[in-house]
Amino acid sequence: MKRKIAKSLLAVAFTMGMSMFAYNATASEKASHPHWAYDGEHGPAHWGHMSEEFAACSQGKTQSPIDISGASEEDTADIAFSYKPSKLNILNNGHTVQVNYDKGSSIKVDGVDFQLVQFHFHTPSEHTVGGKSFGQELHLVHKNDKGELAVVGVLIEKGKENAAYKKIWSNLPRKADEKKEVNAEINAEELLPKTRAAFRYTGSLTTPPCSEGVNWIVLKSPIQMSAKQIDSIQKIMHRNNRPVQPIQGRKVTSDTVSH
Ligand SMILES: [Zn+2]
Repeated sequence: MKRKIAKSLLAVAFTMGMSMFAYNATASEKASHPHWAYDGEHGPAHWGHMSEEFAACSQGKTQSPIDISGASEEDTADIAFSYKPSKLNILNNGHTVQVNYDKGSSIKVDGVDFQLVQFHFHTPSEHTVGGKSFGQELHLVHKNDKGELAVVGVLIEKGKENAAYKKIWSNLPRKADEKKEVNAEINAEELLPKTRAAFRYTGSLTTPPCSEGVNWIVLKSPIQMSAKQIDSIQKIMHRNNRPVQPIQGRKVTSDTVSH
């Protein structure tokens, strides 16, 4: 049945002429999001040219991730975390494994509340510190009432097995667009390091459309995960980290004290 429809559509396209067919393909690509990836012709170096919508990926001046080095030490106000447990809804969106978070959890950044929307993983890490890469990076994505974003990055180094991640790891959706609604709760609070001092800077989404104006909060203390844990997600997602972007004179602060 599907083959018949495809054949008749192709026949129509040929009748209308190949230019019309090509035009239709472009229009539908623009309507949906163009396909992007982490390597080859759809890889990070090409994102900015794939669609007007993705222009910031190549033309932006405040892109993420960055190599964090030469941060200026400042006693910035601590980020106040108020996370509550959420139902465990895991999604493989073809680019990352993402956990969509229930409403009611937030962080306070310089007096502004940002609600936790979702968290997801990049393997290896996207941010590097003094040129050092980590095994993995967790991104907790928060949004405020104005639609502005604050992303908390947690660097993950190879080490001891991390029990807090077991519920997610034993339910990883293996195929793109696969969802797992697990009959369990997860508390994002348990996924963070104990010390919450942070590097802070203004950057962008690290995936298309690479939108800027993102408040980045990269926690200075890495957490640990076993090599086996890191490998098991990398087997599913493969390498999914954008290379570091030019800092372009941006200021990065390093919190000197965690209260
Ligand atoms: Zn991310």
